[in-house]
Amino acid sequence: MNWRELEAEMIRTRRDLHRYPEAAWTEFRTSSLVAERLERLGYKPRVGAAVIDKESVMGRPSEEEIDQHIRRAVMQGGNEGWIKEMERYTGVVAELDTGKPGPTVALRFDIDCVDVDEDTSPEHRPVRENFASLNPHLMHACGHDAHTSIGLGVAETLMAKEGLLKGGKVRLIFQPGEEGCRGAYAMTHGGVVDGADFFLAMHIGSGVPTGTFGINALGYLATTKFDARFTGVPAHAAGAPHLGRNALLAAASAALGLHSIAPHSGGVMRLNVGVLQAGTGRNVVPADALMKVETRGETQQIADYVYGRAVEVLNGAAAMYGVKVELTKAGQGTTARGDKPLVRQALEAVRALNLFEHVEENVRAGGSEDATWMMRRVQENGGQATYMGLGSDITAPHHNGRFDLDERSMLLGVRAMTAITEALLAAGGEQ
Ligand SMILES: [Zn+2]
Ligand SMILES: [Zn+2]
Repeated sequence: MNWRELEAEMIRTRRDLHRYPEAAWTEFRTSSLVAERLERLGYKPRVGAAVIDKESVMGRPSEEEIDQHIRRAVMQGGNEGWIKEMERYTGVVAELDTGKPGPTVALRFDIDCVDVDEDTSPEHRPVRENFASLNPHLMHACGHDAHTSIGLGVAETLMAKEGLLKGGKVRLIFQPGEEGCRGAYAMTHGGVVDGADFFLAMHIGSGVPTGTFGINALGYLATTKFDARFTGVPAHAAGAPHLGRNALLAAASAALGLHSIAPHSGGVMRLNVGVLQAGTGRNVVPADALMKVETRGETQQIADYVYGRAVEVLNGAAAMYGVKVELTKAGQGTTARGDKPLVRQALEAVRALNLFEHVEENVRAGGSEDATWMMRRVQENGGQATYMGLGSDITAPHHNGRFDLDERSMLLGVRAMTAITEALLAAGGEQ
């Protein structure tokens, strides 16, 4: 493998994806280009509707918006044939089968961007070097452009080594909609990790510097994202206010009530009302309100507690103002832990590479991550899973308009993931 060439290609890929970021369930350009590249490498990709369970999809835009995004993706250089093949859903899965007996190793890479405006000042490298986002209000501010590029780098490296692999299969999963925990659940229910003996996922950055690699990321919170829609009755604000039912007041009082839910003594708990929109006109009793909420907990039990209380607060506020409230789930993630034997094997494989200054067993992770659904499914089926942290110096926190990463860490990610995969296939083949 010519690592230098691969690295140059990976940087080109990452920068191209960075220019055309796509949010959850609209990754038509990204998915189609991933499929195109995988096919060129000799894989037989399965895409979109073939790799997800439509019933389990959360937080997907309207069909009209999907139409617009398909048109945009084609205009921005997406592969039309593959986009058609996707049947209005995003995501790609491909498998490398050595044809020899051995375990199945599943690797997951997330491909979506964040709803944030990219910084436009020349101090921001993507602006200076001309690869800043061309899609308004969207940006790869979490590093999933690098994850996609790493996934393709792993695909290329493994294919080049195909004859040398001991046995078994490697399944590459390119997942839509990680942001807001929207995609993994539907893919898991689509069966993408069924039959996997090992599962690995990885995040770049997260406050860990370049040169450090962590095998077992701890601290991902179980979460539920949901919309609450309040519906009241409109009325003349001066002529007949008593005939109106005020959805704005119900929502506003619910927002305060939600943020007053008692903390749980058992561990970390979070709640955020992130969006609140209400009303139609100055002299009308507001009859509609939309609220976007997320709840999180260190354990599933704490997460269930805060979500349960939130539902009670919302229903209570609606009752108080005589309005209706309707809840829709927009995303969900759970908690998961790495399996000790897999963590140990991965630790040895990455240390043996001698490429990292620090290889740590445990790293702290923040926020939530929906790969936890895939980890759980694999573990429930008797397999092993872990979530890893790839160090990369970053210029601003994740989800910030000035976020950028150290591109040199991408090749390190490919080397680490490939080494672990090879080690797992080798060990499995000897059983
Ligand atoms: Zn991320
Ligand atoms: Zn993120």
